[in-house]
Amino acid sequence: MRVYKGKSVFGGTAVGKICVYQKDEQQVRRVKVEDTQKEKDRYHSASETAMEQLRALYEKALKEVGEHNAAVFEVHQMMLEDDDFIESVENIIELQEVNAEYAVAVTGENFAQVFAAMDDEYMRGRAADVKDISERLLAVLSGKGTGGIQGEEPVIVLADDLAPSETVQMDKDKVLSFVTVHGSLNSHTAILARTMGIPALVGTDIPLDGIVDGKLAIVDGANGCIYVEPDEDTVAEMLERKNKEEEKKRLLQTLKGKKNITLDGQEVMLYANIGNIKDLAMVIQNDAGGIGLFRSEFIYLEADDFPDEEEQFQIYKKVAETMAGKRVIIRTLDIGADKKCDYFKMEAEENPALGCRAIRICLTRPEIFKTQLRALLRASAFGNIAVMYPMITSLWEIRRIKEIVEEVKKELEEQCIEYGNPDQGVMIETPASVMISGELAKEVDFFSIGTNDLTQYTLAIDRQNPKLDEFYDSHHPAVLEMIRMVTENAHKAGIWAGICGELEADLQLTREFLAMGVDELSVSPKQILPIRKIVLETDVSEYIRNR
Ligand code: PEP
Ligand code: MG
Repeated sequence: MRVYKGKSVFGGTAVGKICVYQKDEQQVRRVKVEDTQKEKDRYHSASETAMEQLRALYEKALKEVGEHNAAVFEVHQMMLEDDDFIESVENIIELQEVNAEYAVAVTGENFAQVFAAMDDEYMRGRAADVKDISERLLAVLSGKGTGGIQGEEPVIVLADDLAPSETVQMDKDKVLSFVTVHGSLNSHTAILARTMGIPALVGTDIPLDGIVDGKLAIVDGANGCIYVEPDEDTVAEMLERKNKEEEKKRLLQTLKGKKNITLDGQEVMLYANIGNIKDLAMVIQNDAGGIGLFRSEFIYLEADDFPDEEEQFQIYKKVAETMAGKRVIIRTLDIGADKKCDYFKMEAEENPALGCRAIRICLTRPEIFKTQLRALLRASAFGNIAVMYPMITSLWEIRRIKEIVEEVKKELEEQCIEYGNPDQGVMIETPASVMISGELAKEVDFFSIGTNDLTQYTLAIDRQNPKLDEFYDSHHPAVLEMIRMVTENAHKAGIWAGICGELEADLQLTREFLAMGVDELSVSPKQILPIRKIVLETDVSEYIRNR
């Protein structure tokens, strides 16, 4: 057995034979021509054919992987129509008196190099797209097709790299997994693999030769590796894991696409909690209606210094775009207590959980807050972002926050920078915010109840202290009564209330929350479908009668 490590784009296990994917590399020769006009006409006609292919690919991708992911083929169409690209091809044909193939190949190479040398990671990723369109043009010009998988048996596709068009064109029924030697986690191919829910590895250190071609292998997406010619124990272990995954998938399949409506017609929003952009695959895979809590402080915790506006903007924008119009609630940084960041240079505190954390940092160090708000407001022009503030205890805090948000908007306006108008909500995670929720509700667009902290502060129990577990009663009537009260106050003021603490994933309480009229439950992605199952099986009025 040989084991090769890669970067996992999408989890899951795939067992099958390896098929080394051979691209139909176009052999381009430089040929001197007399009739340059004829070559230019050939190029334009090839470009039209390529455009038709891309339109068809867009339609195919739209159906299979959604609008956002299909957009790459619109980008390819735009690149084909790009004046600089066209001019370069025409100039090479005209000035050097050469064939269209050569002019396209040189232009494609030059443009790809320009993109590859750019600072911006996203733009660097576009080098593969330029190569993709020049390969397409060359295939059309030479009358050849593009590479594909031979045979009927589903395989693990092993390639040097895969262009998005190659990925989407493959017959999904024949692909168990993608494994590439190159390719970044941010490439469109990776995004497509995630959205299709196919186990995939990129950056895999595996030889691309006849030695592995046709060999039995296992892609272990959870551990980011591929086992070639696995031994018996590994096969047994992986098959067992695969069976469990299949079982879960079956549940997933039957519930996917269904609305979260109870037997007596009450609908609830089922959203996902994420801490990282990498969690998005799970969000999509588990059919979340949106993101109910993006713990943005993880961006800070993973960094060595304050993440700047641009870095944050790119992350928030990407999340919003990937969620394609579904609501994405991003919580402003909740640093402090257990989430410590050295570069914040916070003073040591006797009681960090009761100290300078979350919104208290933001209001006392507005320069940090404003950077994040600028990134959030800018990103909200690209999707359905809502902003949520943690650890609120007083009305003046939310009023001051709203003033700062207006100041930031004004600054962006003056700098002619595009921004959106996200909904603003607060986390209800302190008893004080529960008690003033009637007043708070008039100031915001929504509430999200953070039961982890709410339980800690209500029961006066440090949530970090495992020795107090027996006292940490998450079903404590005081906490449940607070949730009921907050929901009622939200509704009185015409706003919605959700829960995003761990308690919402407690399946024993789902019916109770429905009975309270909670509008949204935001859980870890894997919990969405089990909760949906309960929602679909519940008759809320009957539950209320019998409780
Ligand atoms: C909560 O307190 O319930 C919550 C969702 O926030 P965190 O767990 O990140 O403090
Ligand atoms: Mg909290």
